[in-house]
Amino acid sequence: MIRVTVWNEYIHEREYEGIRQVYPKGIHGCIGEFLGKNDDICVKYATLDMPEHGLTEEVLNETDVLIWWGHCAHDKVSDEVVERVKNHVLRGMGLIALHSAHHSKVMKTLLGTTLNLHWKHGDSEKLFCVNPAHPIAAGITEPIILENEEMYGEFFDIPKPDDEIFLGWFKSGQVFRSGVTFTRGMGKIFYFQPGHEEYPIYYQPQIQRIITNAVRWAAPYKKLDEVFPVIQEE
Ligand code: ZN
Repeated sequence: MIRVTVWNEYIHEREYEGIRQVYPKGIHGCIGEFLGKNDDICVKYATLDMPEHGLTEEVLNETDVLIWWGHCAHDKVSDEVVERVKNHVLRGMGLIALHSAHHSKVMKTLLGTTLNLHWKHGDSEKLFCVNPAHPIAAGITEPIILENEEMYGEFFDIPKPDDEIFLGWFKSGQVFRSGVTFTRGMGKIFYFQPGHEEYPIYYQPQIQRIITNAVRWAAPYKKLDEVFPVIQEE
């Protein structure tokens, strides 16, 4: 069983009626719902307003893959929790950072660059798979059309990815490395651009397929504690 924790800052859905209508159970609720339909995946939730943002040592110890959605409150996430998440990734926990999570403290500390990009509100996107042999692209046979999506454009200031899996093309003429992977320590990281909060993107079956594939890909085969077992002091 792959144990997934879906973390969401969960602010836009509570503050804006239009966004609440798109995601009445929160973005985390939508993601957890489609992931939970798989027999091999079990889902827990954590949000910014919970004590320690819901990411205690105990919760992270029981998490194989952490999914992160954040946008307007990156600076409200405590450094202590960021450090804790980073350590768990280095020890083998998978991390999937969605959409505006590129600017989360967790991603910045793990990747080390600014993760800045160009952006523009109100665009539409065609998402191409540029690495069809990658497990995250399994079952994705056609380009994905996102009728409404915020434009994220190059240059995207990331370190050289392990793999580039999806390339986004926007009507306004921009392109973007929309699905990229990294390894930090024992942890696998997938950044996936689609998912602006105003649009029902996480309901699209192909998007759900990609995130589900990413969960299975990022789940640790082995954690660092198994490689270097904790030695008990006599
Ligand atoms: Zn957005």
